[in-house]
Amino acid sequence: MTRQATAKPLIQHIYQKKTATQYYKEDNMVNEYEIKKQICEIGKRIYNRNMVAANDGNISVKLNDHEFLCTPTGVSKGFMTPDYICKVNENGEVIQANAGFRPSSEIKMHMRVYKLRPDVGSVVHAHPVYATSFAIAGIPLTQPIMPEAVIALGCVPIAEYGTPSTNEIPDRLEKYLPYYDAVLLESHGALTWAGDLLSAYMKMESVEFYAQLLYQSRQLGGPKEFDAATVQKLYEIRRKMGLPGKHPANMCLNKDGVNCHNCGGSCHSDAAPAVYPFSGAPQTIHGSTDMTVDSRAQSPEVIAEITRRVLEQLNR
Ligand SMILES: [Zn+2]
Repeated sequence: MTRQATAKPLIQHIYQKKTATQYYKEDNMVNEYEIKKQICEIGKRIYNRNMVAANDGNISVKLNDHEFLCTPTGVSKGFMTPDYICKVNENGEVIQANAGFRPSSEIKMHMRVYKLRPDVGSVVHAHPVYATSFAIAGIPLTQPIMPEAVIALGCVPIAEYGTPSTNEIPDRLEKYLPYYDAVLLESHGALTWAGDLLSAYMKMESVEFYAQLLYQSRQLGGPKEFDAATVQKLYEIRRKMGLPGKHPANMCLNKDGVNCHNCGGSCHSDAAPAVYPFSGAPQTIHGSTDMTVDSRAQSPEVIAEITRRVLEQLNR
């Protein structure tokens, strides 16, 4: 049978309750090629949505504990074909790359995410205009202004500035990894991660949309923020939905019992919780790496359900 005949349609495996890791295991030759196509597709979306300029940004996907696919350096992520995609090991060393391609030097920060978050199957780095503007201004995304952003992201802290391609960025990222699935990188851009590629990318879209709304509502005199009780109701909805990943709803009643959305922006710098702030074990509702479960947070049905539950709670 030809590769075309056996290859499943692009992105189809996302709807088959499989992570890239599971999918790869079934038929690693065919499915590795399919995953490379998906990386190219997501690269196009990132480029077409103005989330990167020129050759910026990078994407990676975990195949197993020792093999990762990643985008090459020095090419536009909007014009990639599967032969561009490189394969590296857990140390970021090249396993396979076609002539003329080598992995991005930023692969170090991706590898740090995979190392400290075994539940993560994909990492996306981009420079979306609004999110990056906040990162440059040193303003974390902590204002609770809309239900979807509060439920999907909670707040988005800023990892302190590090020199690109050195270990400074991965080192500064570390303390946020146990608690968040999205961060701004100071004076640089944004980084998101999730169980699967589509979810990691959608998280990037969500971060940028949240940043854009925050920016534009500030032009209109400032957003009307939810009060702490409303934020807690939204967090409760997220907990009940059992969504995977890390989120302030699951851990961030930081310090004085004040949630992340009310910490006055101290998510930036050393105020990010270095240890789990509650006595007792963290809740483990975020253990799943199931691709469809992770993608659930983004589906129209779930958004509709979130909206319904939010309205129900708010009208109580
Ligand atoms: Zn960058």
